[in-house]
Amino acid sequence: MDTGTIRYSEPVDAYPREPCLPPTETGEAASPPLDPFIAALPRVELHLHLLGAASPDAVASLARRRPEHGVPTEPDGVRRYFRFTGFAHFVEVYTAVNALVTSGADVFDLVVALAADLAARAVGYAEVTVTPLSHLRAGVAPDALSEALAAGRAAAGERHGVTLNWIFDASGDDGPEGASATLDWVLRQRPEGAVGFGLGGPEDVAPRAPFREVFARARAHGLHSVPHAGETTSAAQVWSAVRDLGAERIGHGVRAVDDPALLAFLADRGITLEVCPTSNLRTGAVSDLDAHPLPALLAAGVPVALGSDDPAMFDTDLDAEYRQCHDRWGMPPARLLDLAENAVRAAYCGESLRTALLDRVGRLRAWLTLRPAGERSSRSSPGVRAPGSGHAGE
Ligand SMILES: [Zn+2]
Repeated sequence: MDTGTIRYSEPVDAYPREPCLPPTETGEAASPPLDPFIAALPRVELHLHLLGAASPDAVASLARRRPEHGVPTEPDGVRRYFRFTGFAHFVEVYTAVNALVTSGADVFDLVVALAADLAARAVGYAEVTVTPLSHLRAGVAPDALSEALAAGRAAAGERHGVTLNWIFDASGDDGPEGASATLDWVLRQRPEGAVGFGLGGPEDVAPRAPFREVFARARAHGLHSVPHAGETTSAAQVWSAVRDLGAERIGHGVRAVDDPALLAFLADRGITLEVCPTSNLRTGAVSDLDAHPLPALLAAGVPVALGSDDPAMFDTDLDAEYRQCHDRWGMPPARLLDLAENAVRAAYCGESLRTALLDRVGRLRAWLTLRPAGERSSRSSPGVRAPGSGHAGE
């Protein structure tokens, strides 16, 4: 096995579009118009699964190639198929869709379709979680999988201007052996754009501590530690992810809200939680969005980046998550900008792209600052970082 350090890719500078905001001097609206503001945010997807992002069209297309699997072969049928009764049902459906992906060509098609969807939503950079073992078990050959990911990633940039990096994860119910086999595949194939190593799947049967050694090995090879934890279980799993797996970001982590000491720790260390509210509702991880921990996490100063998780399966996207933060929890535009900035800062992208996106954040802060003072104060809320002063850059 090659034991060299994995080389990080330097994503090209994507984001060809800079959506227009209304001029600041009008000040006619009672608050900044939400949709143009969200459209102007630098959109970075940090928590997105390749399979779960497959659109109903893409899934129906795969199902028509393999009707024997019983997955609906028409997009409307797939949409109905994606109505989950709980986390176990979600895993069942996810597994059935996974079984449709049996060749490198299938994987390539998924990647390119995802890039097209991201481009349509003006998401120029995404870290996509891929679960190699599940594809290998469904019949994709080891070399074919890495070749398809490489070709798909290249096509994503060339055809759609979207930069993709990979987080390779294992399912917790495959145990440390499965995670180790996953890491072996990554180190043997050395896929371009590999930036992180993760752990997903059902959480209640997979305490994080036994995965300590495989995560140490992944980190020694230059992969960031980004496990799921505290999605459906407890704050103790989040502690374990941090202490045992060296987590630098955490998938979900919402149960951290139950432990004030953990919240303080995450805030102090700047460990970002990738929070996916619609996913939590659809899988039953939370019973009601009114009870979702997101506002409490933010109030505790924990860095949070929004994610869509499995957007096609959950009928959501990043814009919908931002809009929901405003509509449901009353977050003002400055808070939405904080969330977007957190994602940019926590991304494992190239520094030139990060700088360009932070420039956009700065321009939006300046734009908010230049709005009439009464309007700003009427929309602000406790805990929102004050917008920076200065001139609008556009
Ligand atoms: Zn996830």
